[in-house]
Amino acid sequence: MFATLTDRLTTTFKTLRGKGKLSEADIDATAREIRIALLEADVALPVVKEFIAAVKERARGAEVSEALNPAQQVIKIVNEELVQILGGETRRLRFAKQPPSVIMLAGLQGAGKTTLAGKLALWLKGQGKNPLLVAADLQRPNAVNQLQVVGEQAGVAVWAPEPGNGAGDPVAVARTGVEQARSKLYDVVVVDTAGRLGVDEEMMRQAADIRDAVKPDETLFVVDAMIGQDAVNTANAFLDGVGFDGVVLTKLDGDARGGAALSVASVTGRPVMFASAGEKLADFDVFHPERMASRILD
Ligand code: GDP
Repeated sequence: MFATLTDRLTTTFKTLRGKGKLSEADIDATAREIRIALLEADVALPVVKEFIAAVKERARGAEVSEALNPAQQVIKIVNEELVQILGGETRRLRFAKQPPSVIMLAGLQGAGKTTLAGKLALWLKGQGKNPLLVAADLQRPNAVNQLQVVGEQAGVAVWAPEPGNGAGDPVAVARTGVEQARSKLYDVVVVDTAGRLGVDEEMMRQAADIRDAVKPDETLFVVDAMIGQDAVNTANAFLDGVGFDGVVLTKLDGDARGGAALSVASVTGRPVMFASAGEKLADFDVFHPERMASRILD
């Protein structure tokens, strides 16, 4: 299992000779263990290959350390590489110099965008912000209502389309939502957008149109961590179709392995910024790359 990569590596090294120095045999045996552990964790194969190549190269060039045995040395390298792929430091939200800041959420239907909008709003309130949620998901029949419910739970205002007043046009809803925020002095706008069950051209076009209308300071790609390797294709499609600055992983409560986090961050080069781990609004935090790396290793 993913959770025991450290155990795997430690066991491997026990059976090897040459304790003081990393030999080529040590490195190969280690690479095999890392490969198995990452594949079991549902990390995409190209990501696994690239990761192993990077670890091997660093392990070969590693100074033989007096303080660490070979197993510890490799674990340290693996940990540092994991943290780096996951974004290095926690990447904080960038706010506009001139409020309101606009945060747009994009992702497949069911990824957890609407729930996340409520979580993010509550979190933003905790940061001293005064957010407005904008219901531009007009695809899913219940999405507007659901956003109003989470908005109420979070204690934040929601801008939703009025029947007959541009109600069918998500781009107009998003644009007027941002105008409302500006005139009513909300300092952050979170725009919920429509997803589909699969990647779909019309959905991408709509999201791109909303992006062009509201000019987000941050576009966040929301992805269900449980979809494993599929997360890579979806992330690439959104990167091409809409573009995004950061990733939010949802349903981490159901995925103990973190393969999606590693794959998406590695393939898109975008940092994971937030993690959602439960259905309650408080089940949410900024993403800590080093904590995820430890979760993978320990
Ligand atoms: P959307 O279609 O992207 O807006 O997705 P929703 O916000 O409606 O979420 C889809 C389902 O996933 C809902 O039943 C949510 O309660 C659930 N959900 C969202 N985030 C999480 C999470 O972090 N953990 C768990 N277990 N469920 C979640």
